[in-house]
Amino acid sequence: MTLEAALKPGDTIGVLGGGQLGRMIAMAAARLGLKTHVFSHHPGEPACQVSAAATVAEWTDEAALARFAEAVDVVTYEFENVPAATAAFLAARKPVRPGPLALEKTQDRLVEKDFLRGLGIPTAPYAAIDNAGALARHIGQLGRPAILKTRRFGYDGKGQFALREGSDVGAAFRALGGAPCILEGFVAFEREVSVIGARGLDGAFAAFDVCENEHENHILSLTRAPAHMAPETAAEAMEITHKILDALDYVGVIAVEMFLVAETDPAGVRRERVVVNEIAPRVHNSGHWTTDGAETSQFEQHVRAIAGWPLGSPKRRGRIEMRNLIGDQVEQWRALLTEPGACLHLYGKAESRPGRKMGHVTRVYP
Ligand code: AMP
Repeated sequence: MTLEAALKPGDTIGVLGGGQLGRMIAMAAARLGLKTHVFSHHPGEPACQVSAAATVAEWTDEAALARFAEAVDVVTYEFENVPAATAAFLAARKPVRPGPLALEKTQDRLVEKDFLRGLGIPTAPYAAIDNAGALARHIGQLGRPAILKTRRFGYDGKGQFALREGSDVGAAFRALGGAPCILEGFVAFEREVSVIGARGLDGAFAAFDVCENEHENHILSLTRAPAHMAPETAAEAMEITHKILDALDYVGVIAVEMFLVAETDPAGVRRERVVVNEIAPRVHNSGHWTTDGAETSQFEQHVRAIAGWPLGSPKRRGRIEMRNLIGDQVEQWRALLTEPGACLHLYGKAESRPGRKMGHVTRVYP
């Protein structure tokens, strides 16, 4: 690592996206004496409230992007759907970490699955679907249930359609607007887990303990760390994450979401394996527990990595539970303030709506 590649206290991190992830990156950066400059579409967003500067513009506004690049020392993002052209425009001016390759491999579910398979990493069986005819053909091979997903811009279960016995394939394709899709075979998982890993500018690797995640209405509701799984399976999940980071020549924090599949063989021996579902090239909701529950938070780890600084210790401080406060669950804030040991985080969103992530609460059990 060259000295020039590393930031110094007082330098500025440019953050693409103004949501709560950017807010928590900015807060971690501030603690380490770094400034942040947020690029977002709306004034007053959660990250803008805590950053030294904000640019409010569209991804296509090259004049605004050029001024932003001029004002920052490194660019990162809290949102993986940053257009490739925006990332390339910025990368020509300032280091973008993680680099545009991470965006290219994770914005499209088909490209992502091909990338994982190319590394020998297990995924659900899948097929590319461009029309209702291809869907009818492949559903025969993959069987039901299966899940049809749009290749791009899906999140929190949006852009997905479960095909069960009797579901009409034409209606499924139409329901997703006829967009290019991927059909995935159903993985009969025991639980969903994720690894929040990091890679430094010097190639160093660190990961937090594997955590397990529960969803309600497709939105993360609860994360527990550590995940209930065999140590060998957890080690395999770490190795997979490490392999992905190296293959992307990645700098920063990544989240790898996986299914834990468990089978008991005829001799009664339990066998576990992990299947990768999705990669998020950014800090992630299932890593929020690290702020109160680990020696370094995922946000600080990300800041350290993109600043070219040494990674911090990911050691867990106890047994952890993180609950999201979604929609009107945020009304619990007053009661949570009086609960000993409850670490409350609110994102500064003016208005609560059903399904909107308003905050979270972490409980650490020593
Ligand atoms: P995703 O947007 O790909 O993270 O999917 C949202 C949720 O749908 C996951 O967290 C799983 O609970 C479920 N899911 C997605 N893909 C599959 C699959 N191939 N098999 C079983 N469940 C799935």
